[in-house]
Amino acid sequence: MESSAEKDRRHTMCCRFTGQCFDSLDDVRPRCRAKQHGKFVFGEKHRLRAYHQAFLAHLLHRRVQPVATMQFSIIPVTPYQQNCSLVWCKHTGKAALIDPGGEEDRLLKAVALAGVKLDMLLLTHGHLDHVGAAKKLSAQWGIPILGPHREDAFLLDSLPEQAQRFGFPPAQAFTPDRWLEDGEQIKLGEQRFEVLHCPGHTPGHLVFYNPTARLAFVGDVLFQGSIGRTDFPRGNLADLIRSIRETLFPLGDDIAFVPGHGPMSTLGDERLHNPFVGDMRR
Ligand SMILES: [Zn+2]
Ligand SMILES: [Zn+2]
Repeated sequence: MESSAEKDRRHTMCCRFTGQCFDSLDDVRPRCRAKQHGKFVFGEKHRLRAYHQAFLAHLLHRRVQPVATMQFSIIPVTPYQQNCSLVWCKHTGKAALIDPGGEEDRLLKAVALAGVKLDMLLLTHGHLDHVGAAKKLSAQWGIPILGPHREDAFLLDSLPEQAQRFGFPPAQAFTPDRWLEDGEQIKLGEQRFEVLHCPGHTPGHLVFYNPTARLAFVGDVLFQGSIGRTDFPRGNLADLIRSIRETLFPLGDDIAFVPGHGPMSTLGDERLHNPFVGDMRR
């Protein structure tokens, strides 16, 4: 029989963010609470435990308190698996959906499951997979749509054509209750989000940054190992790279971010390893 010490030494893998260990890749998907992170470290279990203690201590160093008061969950929606985020203030229960791109029933289930009160909808940019359910949810719940920046008005005006082109259900054009500007602050209960204008993927793209939680919702500006496309109307690669290097990276290497698609990452990881905007490209 295998002793527990032997079991511990067996090769395995761990989620880099939560420290959960798994015996095989098949085991990860159903069990890992943080499968969105998608980052795994391979090695021996006992060594991984030490690694995680160090890594989590590093992550939590400045944010034990803040993280406890802001919570979030990610709900991938639409055939593009767009990361809609439900964020809420734990003290007040006030919540926002960032980029409600579609599948409103699933989004409402997530809101009910968290037991929070939806207060507002925040939009990073005007692409259909990020805004598709906004108008319906806003009307149904009587809550405002805030953002994106006014420069993306042409995209919200063209939602019916976007739906046709990308094979989505018919969508209506709309205007948000309020366009947002660079430097504004959005209050959600006791939480605060800074609005950063990050053009390039679209001209009116915004990032929502919570400085206390050290967390940013970056839409399609930056991804783990990649950057947003710039081949859509009014996309601009030079603007996008400037937005990432001059607006996002200075926020700090320890900032975790939720991209519009795919796994989470940190600004530090991307600054070091991203083949499009990392330090090695300079
Ligand atoms: Zn987009
Ligand atoms: Zn997208």
